[in-house]
Amino acid sequence: MATKATTAAKASAAKAGSAAKAAAGKAVQAARAAQAARATGTTKAKAGASGPSDYDAIVVGGGHNGLVAAAYLARSGARTLVLEGRHKTGGAATTEAPWPDAPDFKVTRLSYVMSLLPPTIINDLQLERHGYKIYPMGPYYQAFPEGGSIKLYADDAKRNHEEVSRWSKKDADAMPRWDAWLAGLADVLGPLLLTVPPNLGSRKPRDLEQTLRLAWRHRGLDVRTVADVTRLMTMSIADLLDDWFESPQVKGALAVNGVIGTWAGPYEPGTAYVMAHHSIGDVGDGHLGNWGFAEGGMGAVSDAIARAARMAGAEIRTDAPVGRILLENGRAAGVELANGQRLTAKVVVTSLHPRTAFLDHVGRANLPDDFVTDIEHWKTRSGVVKINLALSELPDFTADPGTNLQEHHTGSVEMAPTMPYIEQAFLDARDGRAATRPFSDGVIPTAFDQTLCPEGYHIMSLFTQWVPADWNSQPHTEELQAYADRMIDCYNEVAPNFKSSIIHTDIVGPYQMEHDYGLIGGNIFHGELSLEQLFHMRPAPGFADYRTPVPGLYYASSATHAGGGVCGIPGMQAAKAALADRRASLRRK
Ligand SMILES: Cc1cc2nc3c(=O)[nH]c(=O)nc-3n(C[C@H](O)[C@H](O)[C@H](O)COP(=O)(O)OP(=O)(O)OC[C@H]3O[C@@H](n4cnc5c(N)ncnc54)[C@H](O)[C@@H]3O)c2cc1C
Repeated sequence: MATKATTAAKASAAKAGSAAKAAAGKAVQAARAAQAARATGTTKAKAGASGPSDYDAIVVGGGHNGLVAAAYLARSGARTLVLEGRHKTGGAATTEAPWPDAPDFKVTRLSYVMSLLPPTIINDLQLERHGYKIYPMGPYYQAFPEGGSIKLYADDAKRNHEEVSRWSKKDADAMPRWDAWLAGLADVLGPLLLTVPPNLGSRKPRDLEQTLRLAWRHRGLDVRTVADVTRLMTMSIADLLDDWFESPQVKGALAVNGVIGTWAGPYEPGTAYVMAHHSIGDVGDGHLGNWGFAEGGMGAVSDAIARAARMAGAEIRTDAPVGRILLENGRAAGVELANGQRLTAKVVVTSLHPRTAFLDHVGRANLPDDFVTDIEHWKTRSGVVKINLALSELPDFTADPGTNLQEHHTGSVEMAPTMPYIEQAFLDARDGRAATRPFSDGVIPTAFDQTLCPEGYHIMSLFTQWVPADWNSQPHTEELQAYADRMIDCYNEVAPNFKSSIIHTDIVGPYQMEHDYGLIGGNIFHGELSLEQLFHMRPAPGFADYRTPVPGLYYASSATHAGGGVCGIPGMQAAKAALADRRASLRRK
């Protein structure tokens, strides 16, 4: 996942900008908090015309987005409650100890690396104060079954040139141009992540104004840049890389980000955009597109956000699954828990998968037909299997020998040697069987983070693809075990000590992702990042502004624009939409 895309100078300018913004933000924070507290109505007496509400705001789901929404709402003065169905918060950003007989071994069970959380949120919620700490990853590394290896660095053009030259001099020369090209696109796409998509096609004055604003902001784009963005949005990652590079090894390396979490092989249109989505983040080290390990695993990120939310006054309840969203005169009025308890609030923010949030919790009868159809048609496949391993020693690669910690252990340790290899893994799954030779984005967070397991051991996380899209409906336990064994064999071909070094294995397939974590269809982002599900279409046309057809109900899941990934943007935007509406309503009154 460690593709890089810009210069340190540009990134440090961006960082300086956000630091200045943070300082300015502090200065007005007190005034804003007082104003917002008035706007949201912080006392029971003010809470509702038909009687006092239990809370000002209820957030359904304690994944990282729900927690971000709660933190922003609570900071504004709203009495905020988070209801999480599982025994712990974090959702797909969770650190767990999956082996009862080895409780000291912890894995970052689903998501595994950080990049997309913007400095705005880190600063607003003071996450570093609450324990958010990132180790920037080392290079992308692929050892090839036929011998040799390649490393690609996030920000070292000289070493990249040396590495790529070993496979193709032409590709080595093309690399700086590719990086500059991606950096240019990141300049366009990066700010879009924080943009609320306009309601394209609507003729309402407010929607037209927002559309025009967006057009005006991009008035500086020239014909070439628009063409490049068009290519990125419509091409396959394979075709795009064919235009730039010749070496199968280099193309395999650069294709990884194009298929992460995607129900599509590298030859499918739209996978070029998926690559860009994974290449425009910045872990705060100044290298756009770089990724990092959260100390304590991804659960530590959620914990830091939860601490920020609690510190701001939010209440968080776990083991509190919500059964439905209560409506009163067509407006959101609260929730009913699965145990029948009812809790009321003027504002409800849901951060669940769209099928659960809307079809199950709101109910088809309470939603416009078009919206129901859009959510029913929502594409939510992945075919992802997460394999977490405890190792007695580091992989000893034939191409780069040694079990001592070396640079190639510190980044992504891939099994994506060529484009045809990746494609075949997808074709197997599309034909209805788990990949014979799966694709894997592997990482060893314990190369930096000593908190996850006892000294001398390591944790390795393999994000693998693909199994058939319908494996969310049955556990497929034995087949998953066989699939994991094949995955391990693939690594063993390039690092012959690998298999014998494994002391514990944890396999999480699509069924478990759906049933234990609420990731319907096993999709890692609450919905595919396919072109028809991006920007103003995410999660449905007309409702990409974090609002929903139900007044008072806001939507903060990864199925909105800027999701997926652990970026917190949907949570922040949904809270901001709720607060803005409340202010507008008070002004009208
Ligand atoms: C295997 C895997 C690997 C990934 N790798 C990465 C990665 O490395 N980097 C990255 O940035 N992103 C990664 N992602 C994607 C990222 O983790 C998700 O997009 C993100 O965590 C989703 O956050 P969320 O808050 O929107 O939803 P979720 O995390 O799904 O949170 C929703 C919460 O709602 C709870 N819930 C469900 N039903 C109910 C109910 N009825 N009542 C109350 N609560 C309920 C759930 O338990 C959950 O806690 C990965 C995802 C997966 C699955």
